Amino acid sequence: MHDCCIVGGGVIGLSIAWELAGRGKSVSVVSRDTPQNVASWAAAGIFPAQSGDTHTQLRGTPIERLTQYSDQLHRQWAEALFEETGIDNGFRRCGSLAIATTKETEAEILDSVEKWDRLQVEHESISLKDLRKLEPVLDSGFITDHLRSAYYLPHETQVRPPRHLKALRKACLNRGVEVLDGGQVQSFNLESGRIVAVNLEGQNAIPCSIHASQFCIAAGAWSQHVLQKLNLNLPTRPWRGQIVLHKTDPGLLRHIINIGSGLDYMIPRSDGHLLIGSTIEDVGFDVSTTPFSLERLSTLAGELLPELISRKPEAVWAGLRPGSPDGLPTIGRVPAVDNAWLATGHYRSGFHLSTGTAHLIADSMCGISTQLQMESFSAERAGLLESTRLVS
Ligand SMILES: Cc1cc2nc3c(=O)[nH]c(=O)nc-3n(C[C@H](O)[C@H](O)[C@H](O)COP(=O)(O)OP(=O)(O)OC[C@H]3O[C@@H](n4cnc5c(N)ncnc54)[C@H](O)[C@@H]3O)c2cc1C
Repeated sequence: MHDCCIVGGGVIGLSIAWELAGRGKSVSVVSRDTPQNVASWAAAGIFPAQSGDTHTQLRGTPIERLTQYSDQLHRQWAEALFEETGIDNGFRRCGSLAIATTKETEAEILDSVEKWDRLQVEHESISLKDLRKLEPVLDSGFITDHLRSAYYLPHETQVRPPRHLKALRKACLNRGVEVLDGGQVQSFNLESGRIVAVNLEGQNAIPCSIHASQFCIAAGAWSQHVLQKLNLNLPTRPWRGQIVLHKTDPGLLRHIINIGSGLDYMIPRSDGHLLIGSTIEDVGFDVSTTPFSLERLSTLAGELLPELISRKPEAVWAGLRPGSPDGLPTIGRVPAVDNAWLATGHYRSGFHLSTGTAHLIADSMCGISTQLQMESFSAERAGLLESTRLVS
């Protein structure tokens, strides 16, 4: 019997488990997939720039506050994970350049400027000459002909998702968390409105049950399927994103390059790997890559860095972002179940929001008041209350 059982071993589930274990709880994590196959593994790992001042009050809408709250925890988490595991998760405040080469991306950046001003995010409009100085390798002909606007944001940050996940998993194990890979939720046992056990079909179809005092469902794009086992309906949807990975000389690019509002980007890793992303596709649970999207990403990168055109990518992949109808994550109680929580729907920001989400859920499960109000992320807001009856 554990204090807490977390369904989901992606970045959200592992972060919650690590936080709870750090507070002395005995925790079990159940994951249908092996570590390299969880959707979180596929992410790019950008943390969009926030206000550099960590001592002022959180500002803006509830999701903007959650983002700042999470952002402020990441450096501390990276240091603690390194201390506990020896794994460097690649947390690096490398800064970014937002550039517009079309009318559309110029308009997107104008919207972003309004938001940066409102949230006091440091940003600086830069000239073509400044851009060349900051990133001398960008194709001079292309940017001279097409650049409409460019901004420098010194506080944009990156992590390396596979390393962050490896570190989280190892740190969980070090803190005594039991991690069960290959276990798929089949059903829940309920007594008097409380979940008492989750029943799994394990590897080789061997069934097993995990008993715990409290449960949290953090099953990413599959959360809806898990909640259906409780006869609850949470409208979630997977959004596919594709990535192209190149190996270049270390230091070729110095900053994250966001095209427009950052739906398309290039991320230089310190060892020379260069990630090019991404797409947002509504194709169900299909994680294949497509020639059309890979070609679009390669063309986009090739315009700015022509030397990539003749190179073969080192790898390509796709992952599924857990989406919700209003674009907000759901973080809070599972309605009508006394001892169950929900942390899902983090869409394009699961890594960035993972630290804040873990604190909110761990505070809630430990019965202490949270540092942020959670109503805006409640399941009721997401329509869960319209669900049918609970299983008995
Ligand atoms: C291309 C791409 C780029 C991205 N870039 C960024 C970025 O730059 N910054 C950022 O912050 N975020 C980014 N994201 C988003 C981020 O990856 C997601 O928001 C995050 O990974 C979601 O994590 P999760 O733990 O909720 O879900 P997942 O990682 O999907 O984990 C779900 C877990 O639930 C388990 N599970 C599912 N069903 C069951 C079941 N029936 N029984 C048992 N276990 C089950 C799975 O096995 C898995 O362990 C990106 C995503 C993609 C695809």
